[in-house]
Amino acid sequence: MPIYEYRCQECGRRTTVLHRSIHNIQQPTCPRCGSQNLKRLISKVAYVRSEEARLEAMADPSNWGDVDENDPKSLARFMRKMSQELGEDLGPEFEEVIDRLEAGQSPEEIEKAMPELGGELGGDLDEGGGGIDQVL
Ligand SMILES: [Zn+2]
Repeated sequence: MPIYEYRCQECGRRTTVLHRSIHNIQQPTCPRCGSQNLKRLISKVAYVRSEEARLEAMADPSNWGDVDENDPKSLARFMRKMSQELGEDLGPEFEEVIDRLEAGQSPEEIEKAMPELGGELGGDLDEGGGGIDQVL
């Protein structure tokens, strides 16, 4: 399901639209002025893709160097490194995961203890409060 960002040519409002199907892209309407004169912005989608690719590369154990994925403490060290490399605060959940790893818990135990992680360390792509405005 593609997510596109549009800018209204009438009032300048940006809106993020999740399309249910790539085969049936419907023209969205501006949530502020109701205009259908919206122009699709592609930069953000491209950015999200590259970010995903970066995270995927990091999730590949062969890129981890000397990390031992069966050693929680080694994993914790790696995750700290990853966090520094991303140059952003990954949030209190991420910190808690690292703390638990350093305490010797396995990723499986941590997932059970923190079900809100949804089985994916690092969580969803956080677009800084942007979110989806419309579903078409
Ligand atoms: Zn508008």
